[in-house]
Amino acid sequence: MPKPTRDIGSRTSSKAVSLASHQQKQLTQNTGSALTIFDIDDTLFRTFARVEVRHKHGHRSELTPTEFNSYQLSHDEEFDFTQFQDARLFHATSKPIENIWKTAQNTLDNIGKRPGSRVVIVTARQDLDDTELFIDTFRKHGLDMDKISVHAVGGASNKKPLIREMLLEGSFTEARLFDDYHQNLLDFLSLKEEMPHITFKAFPVAHSGKISKPIIS
Ligand SMILES: [Mg+2]
Repeated sequence: MPKPTRDIGSRTSSKAVSLASHQQKQLTQNTGSALTIFDIDDTLFRTFARVEVRHKHGHRSELTPTEFNSYQLSHDEEFDFTQFQDARLFHATSKPIENIWKTAQNTLDNIGKRPGSRVVIVTARQDLDDTELFIDTFRKHGLDMDKISVHAVGGASNKKPLIREMLLEGSFTEARLFDDYHQNLLDFLSLKEEMPHITFKAFPVAHSGKISKPIIS
């Protein structure tokens, strides 16, 4: 069941957003601006939440996010995502992946050079149980969270609709996604069909934290 997306990092009202995006449009007509999107789990952070599989007869087992992506539930099993909503676990155990963390910091440092540009974090997690503590985890490791909004969309397939919405709100000429889950990159690149004026760059993030050359559409 798709969950409505909620912007849990930004306190900007929608009126302010539409005014700002109007101003951005005027500013960026000739310069071109970029939307840069980072995933969280195994992209910005090495994280330790696991998906639990609850079996009918009480037995439980755990899956890493990678294992979860290909796991087929049998008829007497169900997923339990509780650990992914646990902000204390996130705050206490998450470790920045240095390479990508630096990329995020550099992107923020340079954001002013391309007016109208925006950096966002989009996760397939559902809302965490303590938003302040969740956001503070990024701040604790040196990311300026006044410049970034965090969006928890509750399911990988909900990323594309949110990204589409953000692209339609701004006047971007470039969109970049850093994500370790290949299907997310493909979904993102498929937006090119609808928005041929935008250059889409999908950066695969390997388990080692290495960023591969972008796939461009
Ligand atoms: Mg991920």
